[in-house]
This record gives sequence, C-alpha cells and structure tokens, in this order.
Amino acid sequence: MKIAILGAGAMGSLFGGLLAEADQHVTLLDINDAHLHAIAMHGLRLETDGGDRHVRNLHATRPGGATDVPDLLIVFTKAMHTRAALASVHHLLGPATHVLTLQNGLGNVEALASVVQRERIFVGVTTWPADLAGPGHVRSHGTGVIRLMSADGERPPMLARVVDVLSAAGLNCHADENVWGAVWEKVAFNAALNPLCTVLNQPVDALGAVEDGLTLALTIVDEVLAVARASGIAVDAAKVNDNVRHAIVAHRGHKPSMLQDVLAGRPTEIESINGAVVATARRHGVPVPHTETLMQLVRLVQANAMHKQAP
Ligand code: NAD
Repeated sequence: MKIAILGAGAMGSLFGGLLAEADQHVTLLDINDAHLHAIAMHGLRLETDGGDRHVRNLHATRPGGATDVPDLLIVFTKAMHTRAALASVHHLLGPATHVLTLQNGLGNVEALASVVQRERIFVGVTTWPADLAGPGHVRSHGTGVIRLMSADGERPPMLARVVDVLSAAGLNCHADENVWGAVWEKVAFNAALNPLCTVLNQPVDALGAVEDGLTLALTIVDEVLAVARASGIAVDAAKVNDNVRHAIVAHRGHKPSMLQDVLAGRPTEIESINGAVVATARRHGVPVPHTETLMQLVRLVQANAMHKQAP
C-alpha cells in the first residue's frame, strides 16, 4: 500500500518505520528539517522491544516535496496543527485516497472532513506509546493496540485492507463498531491526567501522593463520560477508572506529552481535549466544572510558558 504519514514525530515515525519494515511504500511528511535531514542521511532509527535498528526503505520530505498520491494518508500531527498540515497536502489527495486519524482529542474527523469526504475517513485510537529521542530517532517500548472504524460507520473494502496492513506491521489493529466510545474513553483519561500533571509540573505517579489526586482525576473522568453519554456514546466508566488507577501506580516518572509541550514552550492539545469537552458539555447542558477549571489553568500555564520561550 502507498502510505503517506502527515506529521512524522513520535507516533508518525513509529508507524512509518514499522510499516516500511513490513514492506509498505512509506513517505513521511513533516516540517521538522533536522528530523528529515537525519532520516535522509542515516535512515530512521527505530528503537523498540524488537530491537534498535535503522529503517532505510522509506522517504522523508516536507509536504510540498511529495508527489506520489497515496492510497492512505495517516494524520499524526498534534491536533492543533491538523488543518495547516492538511492545507499543504491538497495535491496528494487523489479520488481514492483514504485518510486515517488516530490523534488524541475530539474534532479530528471534522478537521479531515474539510478536505475529504466522510466516507473516505477512518477514525480511531491507539494505545501504542512513542517518544522522539532526537532527530531521526524514535523510541517505543511496550505494546499497544489500534481500534478504528470508518467515520460514517460503514465497512468499505478499504477498511479491511487498512486493518490488515497495520496488523501485518505488528501494530495489532481491529475494526471496532464502538470506536466513538473508545475515543471518548481516551479523552476522559487524557482530560484528567494530562492537565493535572501539567498544572502540577509533575509526572503521573505524583498524583498518588495523597488520595485527593485520584479523587480529582476520577471526578474529571465522571464529568467527561457524562458528556459522552449525553452525546449518545456508550462508554465504560469502570474501564477508564481502572486505567487511571493503574497509570498513577505504574507510570512512574512519565511526563504526559502535554507537560512535555509546556516545558518546551510549545502549544498543547488542551483545546481538543478539555476544551472540546467543555464546548460539547455546554451544548448538552452538562456541568463540567473541574474539566473547565483545568482547561483554564492549562491555558494560563501554557501562555506563560510560551511567553517565557519567546525571543
Ligand atoms: P509529535 O509532536 O511527536 O509529532 C507531531 C509532528 O507533526 C511533529 O514532528 C511536527 O513537526 C509535525 N508537524 C507539525 N505541523 C506540521 C505541518 N504543518 N505539516 C507536517 N508536519 C507537521 O506528536 P506525537 O507524540 O507523535 O503525537 C501525535 C498525535 O498522536 C497527537 O494527537 C497525540 O496526542 C497522539 N498520540 C500520541 C501518543 C504518544 O505516545 N506519543 C500516543 C497516542 C496518541
């Protein structure tokens, strides 16, 4: 399959590297010139439980430099960069090109639907973890899964092909009728843990210091899942609560990407996570005071961090 990956940071590089190793035709599209240059010189360094190696059978270029129309475009920018990134790949969207988003947060399908018809959009979530260790070097330890579906709920032949191609690359992919439940469950988890760690400037396990950390996290999960239910989405509260409890105990020293972004003076995905939940909650008249307060606090932290970084 001809696959282009728009936004080849941590996740895009992991997926691109594994798909290229599985003999798919992969092009990474990014605007990080140091990363692109390192890949052009040495290949992509992929460090996983499967080993530390360089993947050389892929192309990496700025979006404007690509010419090959892909069968599948996987969007892996941070959510706030999706629209600008899509605007730079209009020339790559052929009549049969399908587009997949596994980004965190809400509103990703709406962003894709501004450039491609809904029946050619796939949406899902992934639990695969990845970090960019340096230019041209991605690291991912542990395992994960992908759950996805067509944005219009249909099952076109391309859906099965995409599931097969991702699974053949070892990415453990399944089509899932309740993909929106999975999206909202991940939003609930992220809306609780990412902003709390960001506001505290602490890793996830720091939330276990006193009982209030878990209480606050579970209160936010409750709020977000109430909004999901008001939107007609079936969600599993016990599962999300268990994931939150597990993360606080097990993710020792892990700084969520929202905190990493603030520390680096970059914008965060707060608007597509807590921000989108608050907007949806208002439409349904569901109170989400804790989710909203955290959104406001992260906006403040983010504005101050970006201000400090400005030249
Ligand atoms: P990242 O910041 O490492 O990568 C994003 C990439 O997009 C960067 O390389 C950046 O240069 C590129 N980009 C920005 N604007 C662009 C543009 N206009 N055109 C082309 N490229 C552009 O982020 P990530 O950690 O890979 O996360 C990507 C998405 O996946 C996010 O929505 C995130 O929440 C989600 N996610 C991340 C993880 C993880 O473990 N990292 C796990 C699951 C989901």
